[in-house]
Amino acid sequence: MNALVFENIGHIAHTSVADPQILHPADAIVKVAVSAVCGSDLHVYHGRETGLDAGTVMGHEFAGQVVETGSNVRRIKAGDWVVSPFTTNCGQCYYCRIGLTCRCTQGQLYGWVQNGHGLHGAQAQYVRVPLADSTLLTFDAAMPPEAALLVGDVRATGYYCAVQAGILPDGVYAVVGCGPVGLMAVIAAFELGAQQVFAIDTIEQRLQLAQQFGATPVNATLQNPTAVLHEATQGRGADAVLEAVGSANAMQLAYELLRPGGTISSVGVHTTETFAFSPIEAYDKNVTFKIGRAPARHFMPQLLNAYFTSPYNITDIITHRFSLQQGAEAYRIFDAKEDGCIKAVLLP
Ligand code: NAD
Ligand code: ZN
Repeated sequence: MNALVFENIGHIAHTSVADPQILHPADAIVKVAVSAVCGSDLHVYHGRETGLDAGTVMGHEFAGQVVETGSNVRRIKAGDWVVSPFTTNCGQCYYCRIGLTCRCTQGQLYGWVQNGHGLHGAQAQYVRVPLADSTLLTFDAAMPPEAALLVGDVRATGYYCAVQAGILPDGVYAVVGCGPVGLMAVIAAFELGAQQVFAIDTIEQRLQLAQQFGATPVNATLQNPTAVLHEATQGRGADAVLEAVGSANAMQLAYELLRPGGTISSVGVHTTETFAFSPIEAYDKNVTFKIGRAPARHFMPQLLNAYFTSPYNITDIITHRFSLQQGAEAYRIFDAKEDGCIKAVLLP
C-alpha cells in the first residue's frame, strides 16, 4: 500500500510499504477514507519529539471502513464505517474505567514506532487497529467521514481542555492558540456554558474562525493579550486559560493571563524539560494546573451525537484537502500555515 513515512527531521515521504496484517485476534484492519495532519505530527516533523524510527507510517487521525477483523472481534464488523481515537484502549483496565482512556495500560499511539516497537499510523491506505472492539466507534452514514475524524482527536481534545478548565457561565476565559485544537476548545467552552471567551493567536484567518465560533479575537501581534484580559476583568485576569499550543511561550502567556485562584488547562503537547513558570509563581497565584493527553475515546460517543445537534459546523476548520501523494506538501503547507491553511486532510 501507499503511505506517508517519517524519514528524518523535516522529511516525510510518500512511499510503498507492506500492507498491515491482523497480528492479534483483537485487531481489525481499516481501509482509510480520510486521514489528517495534526499539530502533534509537527513535533516529530521538527524533531522536538524524538525517538521515532525511520520508516514509521505517520498519522493518528482517520476514519474509514473495516475490511478485516481478528477472530476475537465481536462488536465491529467488516463494512462498518469507523473512527478511532488517536490512541487505542482496552476498555477494561483501571484507567479505561475511570474515563482516562488515553492512559490505558495496553494503549498505543498510532504513528509511533520506536526501536521496532509500537503502532504504525493512518496516513496510509490501510491501518491496523489493535483492541478494535473497545477502540473503534461506528458512526452514522449521515456523518461525513471528515467530521468523524475530527471527533477522534481535535474535537475531543478541545472538549477535554474546556472540561478541565471548569467553565462557569459568568467566567471570563482565554484560549491560547487558535489551531484546530484551540478552535475546538472555543466551541467546547461555549457548549459548556461560557459567555465570554477571548481567543489569542497571531494568524488572522484562524482568529476570524474563532470569531465566527463566538470568541472575541485577540491578535497578539497587534494587541497585548494580558492588557485585554485585565481590561475585561477589572484587572484580575482570566478565570481559566485553555492552552492549545504546546510551547514555553504559550505557557508563560497562559500564566500571565490567569487571575489568582484560576485554572490553566493545557492540552498543547509540551516538549521542554522544565515548566515555563516557576513553583514560586504558581504559589503566588494559587494556580490550579491541569495538563495532559486527552482521553478522546471517553468523550467520542457524546461528541459524535453532538454533530447532529450542535450549531457549530466543526468541518469549517478543514481548509485543505490533499492526496496521499501530495503528503510532503501537505506537511509543509500545514506547518507554514501557508495559504490560510488551518486543517489539512489526506484522501487516499
Ligand atoms: P497548530 O500548530 O495548527 O496550532 C497552534 C496554533 O498556536 C497556531 O495557530 C499558532 O499560530 C498558535 N500559537 C503559537 N504560539 C502562540 C503563542 N505564543 N500565543 C498564541 N498562539 C500561539 O496545532 P493544533 O493541531 O491546533 O495542535 C495544538 C497543540 O495541541 C499541539 O501542541 C498538539 O500537539 C497538541 N495536541 C494535544 C493533544 C492532547 O491530547 N493533549 C491532542 C491533539 C493535539
Ligand atoms: Zn492529532
